[in-house]
Amino acid sequence: MENNLGRVLDALPAMVWTALPDGSIDYVNGAWSDFTGVRPGKICSWEWRALVKPDDLPRLVERWQSILASGEPGEMEARLRRFDGEYRWFLVRVSPLRDKSGDLVKWYGVNIDIDNRKLAEQAITESERDLKLMIDTIPVLAWSADPDGKAEFLSQYYLNYVGFSAEEARNQGWTGAVHPDDATKLEVAWQATIASGSSGECEVRMRRFDGQYRWFLFRVDPSRDETGNVIKWYGVYIGIEFRKQALEKLRRSEAFLAEGQHLARMGNFSWHVAKGEIVWSEPLYRIFEFEPDSVVTLDLIASRVHPEDIPLMADMLEAAERGDGHFEYQLRIVLPDQSVKHLHVVAHRIEDRGVQTEYIGAVLDITRHRLSEDALEKVRSELAKVTRIMSLSVLTASIAHEVNQPLSGIITNASTCLRMLAADPPNIEIATETARRTIRDGNRAADVVGRLRALFSKRTAMIERLDLNEAVREVIALASGELQRDGVVLCTELACGLPFVAGDRIQLQQVVMNLVRNAADAMSAVTDRQRRLQIRTELDNDNCVRLSVQDAGTGFGPNCLERLFEPFYTTKNDGMGIGLSVSRSIIECHNGRLWALSNDGPGATFSFAIPVYSGDEAPLPEISVSRAPDGSAHNAGGFHDQRVSARLSCR
Ligand code: ADP
Repeated sequence: MENNLGRVLDALPAMVWTALPDGSIDYVNGAWSDFTGVRPGKICSWEWRALVKPDDLPRLVERWQSILASGEPGEMEARLRRFDGEYRWFLVRVSPLRDKSGDLVKWYGVNIDIDNRKLAEQAITESERDLKLMIDTIPVLAWSADPDGKAEFLSQYYLNYVGFSAEEARNQGWTGAVHPDDATKLEVAWQATIASGSSGECEVRMRRFDGQYRWFLFRVDPSRDETGNVIKWYGVYIGIEFRKQALEKLRRSEAFLAEGQHLARMGNFSWHVAKGEIVWSEPLYRIFEFEPDSVVTLDLIASRVHPEDIPLMADMLEAAERGDGHFEYQLRIVLPDQSVKHLHVVAHRIEDRGVQTEYIGAVLDITRHRLSEDALEKVRSELAKVTRIMSLSVLTASIAHEVNQPLSGIITNASTCLRMLAADPPNIEIATETARRTIRDGNRAADVVGRLRALFSKRTAMIERLDLNEAVREVIALASGELQRDGVVLCTELACGLPFVAGDRIQLQQVVMNLVRNAADAMSAVTDRQRRLQIRTELDNDNCVRLSVQDAGTGFGPNCLERLFEPFYTTKNDGMGIGLSVSRSIIECHNGRLWALSNDGPGATFSFAIPVYSGDEAPLPEISVSRAPDGSAHNAGGFHDQRVSARLSCR
């Protein structure tokens, strides 16, 4: 029987052994010997300890002794060395055998190979550890909650971030560090998410361990069982502070741009020609008075374009189809209330988009500019008319002077003739008739001159307290368009704090305008240097204010200086040669003087100086064309001593 049992035990595919009550082994089966490579008779007592992995031995011995002491069945785990030196995990199960009187007579043991299971368990433990490490380390604040929303797990990163101890975390859950102002919003969103059983998100500020609040995106997803019930909630807080800041910056810069565009009455657009995609900035919607979210198409734009400007728009579309690099148009649109806006459209093709032509452009509302330009043009042409009339009036004065003298001579002679003829023997009838005709014609000529003068005498010059700088600025505003067209670069140096002068604003402005135009004319042929025109005001000696107009034009020769101010002296094909002589007359009537100098470099400088305002100025005398006593015109620097009276006429 014993032998039979021994054979059976040896045949079992499990390691079986027996031990005495004190724990010393007295039998091992074949499977045991096969595994360890130790023959049955060679192992006895506690020698098995040499087969146990040293790391596991103390624990195993301790456990075995406690089982021995208890006399109860028990289990132990340890690695045992195989015959080839490799260790494998075993579960060692032991059970006591007792005799009839209950005394323990033997221990039976079986070693079950659990190496594969152990490795699998180890792998699971390791991966769980990795996972936990990952959850705790990745920079998101992770948490989980039960189906009712009660926090179950908070990642270490979360705890570190908010600075909660494990205790605080248990009490406060995953909402403990949310900004009080955002708490209600989060609560509402969270309850709605729980109720819906689906994903949810909400943006909130979270307090960092140092008390600083930063923006986070709270996002939660449910985990369900196979019947679809929510068994857990998994949530994260993702830091969006930088995104928030960037968005805020973007929002501000967009608002800034929109405000700037609004102020500048401009808007911009992009236009993908092939796709017909048009993106408009908000101010552009306002300019066109389109509904804010309407889809902008070429047809929609065309519906606003002034019928007369539709060909311009067609031209612009063609330019875009051709892929022109740049185009610029001015066209009008008609708004729903039938008011008209003038627009300036500029667009550039974006270079690096290959065959996909796309334009970036800007639209400027130039309506006000256009209207003021029209008004300016009107004023300018009126001033030009005034200038012409003034020139005519002086011309008339000059004619009057030239004609009145011989006329009065004719009249005097005719009267004498009459007297002579009245002597004996006269041919009274014919002589008297001739003389009467002479007188009649003479008077008629005088009448013509008188009527001409009366025609232009519509305005009386007015002396007033005048800010010369302001008067000059008005002239510049009038002339700047023309100067720009002529390529003239205008520089001003108007002295601050100049005293007022006494003068007639319109007359003085006419002088300045005349000097400016002459300067521009003198530079019209200049191509090798800048056409620089400088207007300067300053305090002059002798209680006067001086204005100078300096140009870089052709200038004048020393011999011409004498003649510049003569009436009818001109070197221009279309000139009248009156401007400077009238100007000098005006300035002299203001008790000032007007003169010209050649510059050190190219060009000339014309200046005048007039007295500052004192309050007891006499009314302006009548403007005259200055002449020298010998009948020739005055030289540039001198004063006239004979005036041919001619009332200044202007409207
Ligand atoms: P107009 O301009 O009709 O010729 P003006 O009396 O204003 O009449 O000018 C007379 C002439 O004086 C001009 O034709 C020109 O030869 C000369 N002149 C005037 N201003 C300048 C200047 N800035 N530079 C050179 N020559 C000038």
